[in-house]
Amino acid sequence: MKKGIPVSPGVSIGTAYCISEIFVRPEKTHLEEDAVGEELARFESAKEQTIRDLKALESKVYAQVGPSEAAVFAMHQSILCDNAFTKKVSGWIVDEKLTVQAALHRFLEEYSVLFSKTKDEYLQERFADIRDVVSRLSASLTDVKNEIDRGLEGPLIVVADELLPSQVVLLGDVEVKGIVTQAGGPTSHAAIIARSKGIPAVSGVPGILRQIKTGDTIMVDGREGVIRYNLDPESIAAYRKLEREFFDFKDQLAENRDEPTITADGLELELLANINSTTDAESAVAMGGNGVGLYRTEYLYLTHPNVPDEEEQYENYRRVIQSAPNNQVTIRTLDIGGDKTVPYLGHNHQESNPFMGWRSIRLSFEHPELFNTQIRAILRAAADFEFGKVRMLFPMVTTVDEMRRVRSMVRRAMKQLVSLGKPFANVPIGMMLEVPAAAIMMDTLLEGCDFVSVGSNDLVQYLMAADRDNPKVSHLCQPLSPPVLRVLKNVIRICNQNNTPITVCGEMAGQPKAFVLLLGMGLKKFSMSPAFIPTIKELAKVISRAEAAQILQNALKLKTTSQVQRYMAGQLQRLAPKFTILDTA
Ligand code: PEP
Ligand code: MG
Repeated sequence: MKKGIPVSPGVSIGTAYCISEIFVRPEKTHLEEDAVGEELARFESAKEQTIRDLKALESKVYAQVGPSEAAVFAMHQSILCDNAFTKKVSGWIVDEKLTVQAALHRFLEEYSVLFSKTKDEYLQERFADIRDVVSRLSASLTDVKNEIDRGLEGPLIVVADELLPSQVVLLGDVEVKGIVTQAGGPTSHAAIIARSKGIPAVSGVPGILRQIKTGDTIMVDGREGVIRYNLDPESIAAYRKLEREFFDFKDQLAENRDEPTITADGLELELLANINSTTDAESAVAMGGNGVGLYRTEYLYLTHPNVPDEEEQYENYRRVIQSAPNNQVTIRTLDIGGDKTVPYLGHNHQESNPFMGWRSIRLSFEHPELFNTQIRAILRAAADFEFGKVRMLFPMVTTVDEMRRVRSMVRRAMKQLVSLGKPFANVPIGMMLEVPAAAIMMDTLLEGCDFVSVGSNDLVQYLMAADRDNPKVSHLCQPLSPPVLRVLKNVIRICNQNNTPITVCGEMAGQPKAFVLLLGMGLKKFSMSPAFIPTIKELAKVISRAEAAQILQNALKLKTTSQVQRYMAGQLQRLAPKFTILDTA
């Protein structure tokens, strides 16, 4: 058994599929005598293909972002063209009968030992480039679907160091019913993706890739944050039963999709969906969401080999809006940086404090053309739907100046569209409240905002000075901590008094305990992973605003996070005991 951080509730059992073995342990290391020639050819053609991809990337980035951002891809090509690299890898294939993957793995190991001896930042960045290129090459050799055709039986439990969006795309339509990661926490990519698909997941399980190999049977318990393997047949049968109960219960809950969300005292709430793609927009409909509270557009960039141009973005936004529930859709502009890096935006270098550095709107301001393209694509997509359907949301706003600058960029984009004769719509403009400084200045910031959306994942990490992806500080990065509750209560009060619509779109909005407290603060719009909508809808039925306000008042008297968590677990047990399988510890 191994313990990690529970990040997406439920229980599932299945066959492990380990990703990113390049950094851990290639599953097959040696070749048959007669396979060497074929392996060398595989290496050569993967290298050529990767060089071609990099070349295409370089020209597109050159044209759309700039020469210095494109230069990194030229450098990456030169690593692959380097004779020393080719000689080393093919030497191991021929002399030691290593598979290409094993040879690439050894290459990285040798280099990491070499580079670990230096403290020179420049050299360390060069090593990051080497890792980048080698893993790109390695990924072009791995085809998950082929892997599965070679006898792996689905559904699969994906086991990875951290799940990158590109790997999720690679998994395509393979049925994934559980995710386990070594790194990450409740708000990392893997967690967000797992929740958007409604599958159980556990993060922060160090060393799991060394204990589990592809093909093993493992059980993921996303309520307690537990992984079990080497199971006897009785345990397998017991977990299968639990798994069935979990999925049946969820299906049964989703039957409430056409009902409105009404609290015990008759207040209608809006339950919106956080989405990353058109597929998620469809899940939002299937789960009965009232609209989309957050479309994370960066997934379009992250899963795209290069910069998506205005037409591509326009088409994507239109498709997402069309697939979404027939109500409001809030599109958030690019939120790159922190844990989400895009090399074509000059993100190949390491920042020592990425979450406090060059991310989100700060990065967009520095790429005005890229930012302008996105704003135009959103304004154009909005014109194809009824007035008021689309809203535009800006991430990580910190100061009043930034909001002014956003408004002036939107005006500029509109002027350009007028002169080009392209139809567009005027849309409400909102800010994400994620930075404590902005929470302090909330009343002043409202002057420039048509609406506010609280990104509690970031707000909590910044308030608590505890990285949302670092399992070592996850005990601090907790939405149910007393300081977070105080700040949220205040912000919701200010917006309500000012009649500015406010939504909470961080992961806490879909967590039963946090939902009760937010309702008690006077929140009426909640945006969450689609999979959580049916649960929250049922929970709303059994609680009135007055009761939620009383529970909040009691919770605010408590001094520690664990006291709040225990108190809320008790309240949830009392209000809706059957929901505990759908809650994380
Ligand atoms: C947040 O920070 O709460 C949020 C919703 O944005 P993201 O998780 O994409 O940073
Ligand atoms: Mg955020």
